[in-house]
Amino acid sequence: MKILALVLFAAGAAFSQANLPVLGDGYQDTPLIPGTNWHVHDNRRPYPPVVTPGAFVSVPAPADAVVLFDGTNMDKWCKADGKPSGWQIVDGYMEAVPKQGSIRTKDNFGSVQLHVEWASPTPPKGKGQGRGNSGVIIMGRYEIQVLDSYESTTYADGQAAAVYGQYPPLVNVCRKPGEWQSYDIIFLAPEFNDDGSLKKPAYVTVIHNGVVVHNHVEILGPTGHKCIGKYSRHGKAPLSLQDHGNPTRYKNIWIRSLD
Ligand code: MG
Repeated sequence: MKILALVLFAAGAAFSQANLPVLGDGYQDTPLIPGTNWHVHDNRRPYPPVVTPGAFVSVPAPADAVVLFDGTNMDKWCKADGKPSGWQIVDGYMEAVPKQGSIRTKDNFGSVQLHVEWASPTPPKGKGQGRGNSGVIIMGRYEIQVLDSYESTTYADGQAAAVYGQYPPLVNVCRKPGEWQSYDIIFLAPEFNDDGSLKKPAYVTVIHNGVVVHNHVEILGPTGHKCIGKYSRHGKAPLSLQDHGNPTRYKNIWIRSLD
């Protein structure tokens, strides 16, 4: 009975989406996102409405924050393998150097409040996922997308501020390439039972340029391209910034433990 219901649900889901127009890049041959009728990176999923943000405000680190980047050095960062970061510091910001690889913090973190400021490359190059792609990858597993989504479209769950492959942002509040933008992220780490099974999923709230774009959403598993990963037990882990081949910039990064 359960299986029949599932089959009927799946057939209904496929039918209900079938007549929608394809909006741009993306896929329909990927898994369905649990709890939705959308496939991962569904090319029919509506783009979030555009909202023009208010003036940029750089929020200084409070006294109890761990400052991960203050514009002067990469002491808190390294490559995935622990070797020195290959990203460069220019005029008080760090910039991803294509092919140098993603970077991660040397320290591990659990549940956190995180502040990150970033800017897309200017002049912009490429389109869709190739335009200013980077990412804030919490615990090295859960990516909040960084992308140039200013007057540039891609599949909704892969645009700037998406929980990649799972949730489009509620609105598109991107600034122009080269302009500073902010993410304020409240992340609750997943919890696991002694046998390794999931006790409690991760949750995330994201504020992009002062606007709520995710309100305490349940992260469905590690983020990935064309897939949703399965939770597997892990403890505190480093924060990563993604090298996706584009010279995205970051500054004023700080983090507060919520454990
Ligand atoms: Mg990315």
